[in-house]
Amino acid sequence: MIRTKHKIEYDPEKCVGCQLCYKACFVDVIRWDAVNKRPVFKYVSDCEHCFYCEAVCAKGAIRVVPDYASEHMGQHFEQYA
Ligand code: SF4
Ligand code: SF4
Repeated sequence: MIRTKHKIEYDPEKCVGCQLCYKACFVDVIRWDAVNKRPVFKYVSDCEHCFYCEAVCAKGAIRVVPDYASEHMGQHFEQYA
C-alpha cells in the first residue's frame, strides 16, 4: 500500500448540504452523513486528486490539497517522463 498525506479542507460554515461533492467523487473518499446532511471525508488517502469535488462546490467549501511528494503522485508523473 502506498501511503499518502492528501488533504481535503472542508468548511462546514459554507456548506449547504447539496450532496454534489458526494455525487462527484468516483472513488470512496466522500461518504454522506444523512443525519447531519454533510459530506464525510472517509478514505482521503485514496483520493485521485481529480478536483471534481472542489470544482462542483458552488459554495467554495472544499479545497483539495494533494500530497505531491508522495510515491503515488510520483507514479503519475513518471508516466509522462
Ligand atoms: S458540494 Fe459544497 S455545499 Fe454541497 S454538500 Fe459538498 S461541501 Fe457542501
Ligand atoms: S479530488 Fe476527486 S477523488 Fe479526491 S475526494 Fe475530490 S472527487 Fe474524490
